[in-house]
Amino acid sequence: MIDLAEVRALGNITEAKGLTIADVEPVLLSYAFPEDDGPAWSGGQLQGFTAGLVRITTSDGLYGIGETYAGNFAPDVVAALVTYYRSYLVGEDASRIADLWDRCYSRTLYWGRSGIAIATLSGIECALWDLCGKALGRPCVDLLGGAVHDSVACYASGGLDVSIGQLDRELRRYAADGFRAAKIRTGSDPESDFAKASAARTSLGPEAGLAVDAVQGSNPQPWGAQEAIACGKLLEPLGLIWYEEPCAATDIEGYVACRRALDIPIAGGESTTTAEELNRFLTADALDIAQPDASHIGGILEARKAGALAESRSIDLAMHAWGAGVCVMENVHVGFAMPNCRWLEIPVVPNPLIDVLRLEPLEVRDGRIAAPTRPGLGVQLTPEIEAAYPYRPKHHYQFEDRRGVASRWEA
Ligand SMILES: [Mg+2]
Repeated sequence: MIDLAEVRALGNITEAKGLTIADVEPVLLSYAFPEDDGPAWSGGQLQGFTAGLVRITTSDGLYGIGETYAGNFAPDVVAALVTYYRSYLVGEDASRIADLWDRCYSRTLYWGRSGIAIATLSGIECALWDLCGKALGRPCVDLLGGAVHDSVACYASGGLDVSIGQLDRELRRYAADGFRAAKIRTGSDPESDFAKASAARTSLGPEAGLAVDAVQGSNPQPWGAQEAIACGKLLEPLGLIWYEEPCAATDIEGYVACRRALDIPIAGGESTTTAEELNRFLTADALDIAQPDASHIGGILEARKAGALAESRSIDLAMHAWGAGVCVMENVHVGFAMPNCRWLEIPVVPNPLIDVLRLEPLEVRDGRIAAPTRPGLGVQLTPEIEAAYPYRPKHHYQFEDRRGVASRWEA
């Protein structure tokens, strides 16, 4: 098992030495859903998606791209923070990823130890990995010590608030696309959640993996443990692969209570920033499955550290990814490098930014994907893509108070 010092050592890539950083820029891209047709979940409705990308160029004209999931929450803040960090990076050697991360972190200790500062640093850090991989002609997973899996199970992540008929069509399409597992969003109230999850089980059949995400980590009025357990009790007979974010992101005791009371694996941790923050869940025995996200936790190396900490407690990983294509690839690369990574999340919502930024589509065969082989993260950002998806303010997550409102899927 790798220790944290060994993980950190992976982040200074001597073979890539000599890549001088010339510029670090934020690139925001938006996709707008047709008016009032955006998917909804228990915390609000989507007007669109905004990808918070970071482009790092070298004096030789090479570039790397990273993505922070925070771009979907606060794109203007992400852009300002990337510009802030720029002064600590320009002129430095891009191969010193771990040193540069420490430098940025140490300069923002008073105000940037967690939250959006770390989330933004994720996009910068991942752009450095992409740059080094592209410069060496090697996939990032190789630079992390190589893939430790031939293939990893993945799941179709969707199932927002739609009608039962639409949900059924969606889930059957995932199966036709090669998925053997899917995740749906719940988090309304126990009865509605049970009805939706039961319908999903019927659509998928008894053999397929079904996960339920209560999304309480970002709900403006999250459940307490009592509600989470009441809902979980109803879900128990459905044979779920996990029950995700049943409580608020800070309610570690709520997670512990769910684990004690329920016979379903409890998953969470997607919004943690830094491996240390995820470790608070791990040390409290709050999770059966940890869900770090390289595009949010601080980057690929922080995700790798989180994975090592989970492994030391025999906890499996289901990598989180709900951003655009760069975010997906960041988590695919780091997931393939970690022995305890059991699942990769593949967002299947109608967002073209998931596909266009990747050099090739992810091929799902019999519910699994193969290790990535393209240099860097296998991503691209062309002038055509930038022109096609210009940044549109307010086309990011908008949160509403939807407690007590019958969820749209019942219509
Ligand atoms: Mg989730």
